[in-house]
Amino acid sequence: MDAPTESLSKWRLATRLVRGGTLRSNFAETSEGLFMTSGYVYESAEQAEAAFKGEADVYIYSRYSNPTVTMLQERLALLEGAEFCRATASGMAAVFASLASQLDAGDRIVSSRALFGSCHYVVTELLPRFGIECELVDGTDLDAWRQALGRKRTQCVFLETPSNPTLEIIDLNAVAELTHAAGAKLVVDNVFATPILQQPLEFGADIVVYSTTKHMDGQGRSLGGAILTNDEAFITDKLTPFMRHTGPSASPFNAWIVLKGLETLEARLSRHCANALTIAEHLSRHQRIARVLYPTLASHPQSTLAMAQMSDGGTVLSFEFDGGRDRAFRFLNALSLIDISNNLGDSKSLVTHPATTTHSRLTPEERTEMGIGDGLVRLSVGLEDAQDVIEDLDQALEAAWR
Ligand SMILES: *Cc1c(COP(=O)(O)O)cnc(C)c1O
Repeated sequence: MDAPTESLSKWRLATRLVRGGTLRSNFAETSEGLFMTSGYVYESAEQAEAAFKGEADVYIYSRYSNPTVTMLQERLALLEGAEFCRATASGMAAVFASLASQLDAGDRIVSSRALFGSCHYVVTELLPRFGIECELVDGTDLDAWRQALGRKRTQCVFLETPSNPTLEIIDLNAVAELTHAAGAKLVVDNVFATPILQQPLEFGADIVVYSTTKHMDGQGRSLGGAILTNDEAFITDKLTPFMRHTGPSASPFNAWIVLKGLETLEARLSRHCANALTIAEHLSRHQRIARVLYPTLASHPQSTLAMAQMSDGGTVLSFEFDGGRDRAFRFLNALSLIDISNNLGDSKSLVTHPATTTHSRLTPEERTEMGIGDGLVRLSVGLEDAQDVIEDLDQALEAAWR
């Protein structure tokens, strides 16, 4: 296989997304090849021996690596400006592998409390079963980070910004500084922002994780995840053996879908963000709506910080109306264009009621602390004409009050 893209790091973002990582086989295909193979053939017993000693640059087994997965990893690394990338079977596989591979019994993790539901489970329930202590903090409160990191020796900090579903923004520079002063590593779940809008490594993060299921696929076809870093010791000593021997590797087929999805990521994101802002502004003016949360709206309490670390507001907004769960359900059930679904970053606009779905595992007190009221609705804005989405929202809002 020939790699025509070695010089790609000099090209601009959109070019890297379309051409980065392409490995052309002897068939000279224009589109990246899909290598549906679990194993590989050696030329000789000697080559097999060398492969297992790490002395031959050949593929061994697709749990370790696969040419299609390699292309995805290279394209993602170019996009993120990271040296290393490992693709995984899902976003949760990426989150779990990035944490479990580096933590030992007796270690401690400090995490922002506004987390994706399964991330909350991993840090508060699963890791503690293996003797890893967890403390949750209000991610927007730098004093809370300072105190939590000062209380006890900590090995790892985990956070998500913007957060799901309240779009809280965490100051990446400041938390990275506190993390490093405490001798810990910062892991950032960057799913909501995507590498197009925010690159946490630039702000001091050590490891960035993604669910490629969301915007990178962008059309709801596959599950996948990725871990990116410049930390060679972490990759070599921790993550690579963890992934090889526990098997959360990406399937070639899903890697291929995401690889093709990346080619349109920048173009899609600019449309997604423009639509989301238009809709957020419309809802802000709507008399039925008490509060709209979108990072770059002037009314967002952290819009200045959001604009300092993100190049645009993203694809997700949340809004709240009085009337609690009954009103919210009537609203959801009255929508005709927008689908009820907990997925996000899709070409189709999707709406969910976090209190009874993605965040139903939390106690009512935890939800109140995190600002997830019963009247809160999360909207992932798709690629439809924004006007059609607005008309659907408006008619459902009227219906919810009838
Ligand atoms: C979806 C999501 C995940 C998990 O990704 P999967 O691909 O569904 O496993 C993790 N974090 C955030 C913020 C997400 O939105």
